[in-house]
Amino acid sequence: MKNIIIFGAPGSGKGTYSDMIVEKFGMGHISTGDVLRAEIKNGTELGKIAKGYIDEGQLIPDSLMVDILASTYDRQPKGCGVIFDGFPRTIAQAEALKTMLAERGDDMGLMIELVVEEDVLMARLLNRAIEQGRADDNKETIQKRFDVYRTQTAPLSEWFAKEGIRHTFAWSELKTKEGMIEAIFQTVEQANK
Ligand code: ATP
Ligand code: MG
Repeated sequence: MKNIIIFGAPGSGKGTYSDMIVEKFGMGHISTGDVLRAEIKNGTELGKIAKGYIDEGQLIPDSLMVDILASTYDRQPKGCGVIFDGFPRTIAQAEALKTMLAERGDDMGLMIELVVEEDVLMARLLNRAIEQGRADDNKETIQKRFDVYRTQTAPLSEWFAKEGIRHTFAWSELKTKEGMIEAIFQTVEQANK
């Protein structure tokens, strides 16, 4: 399987669709948010640093994030492809990912972009706050994460388009989780033919 980069705003469904892709195609899955939350839970040095940024809705510095990503990638099983969920979030991270993969004889594969309106995202994240109690899912921090997404992460969409690997899926057109995942599966299958 080709690698997949799943890209979208906070609450756009990156984790949800990643799990469904993993289930269907048996790929590896790296969620940088999950990696950081595990470090926080285990009380590591890295976790302490990460918590300060996450609670403020800010990004962890690129150099730190790139190291975490590379070491996590090297622990994945080889040959079945990996989904990158939550990485890259800046142009610098994207350049680093491309280089890191090239050094290992791998490539980025395809990028799946989830486009969801901010009012829908806000409603989903506030609902998740009730269900999962994530510390950064409160209205003020969510707003900061949207701002960070708009200024630092969204410009990456064009970067992927220039790489020729962007595939966009819009909630406003596909309307349901079933509609989204059906279209995503088709694209993944096509790319692996
Ligand atoms: P969702 O998972 O619902 O799409 P999200 O994208 O905001 O929401 P995570 O991907 O879990 O959530 O990330 C949570 C936080 O972890 C981010 O707000 C950021 O502080 C930090 N983080 C995760 N990945 C990165 C990254 N690649 N670079 C910098 N910081 C990151
Ligand atoms: Mg997530």
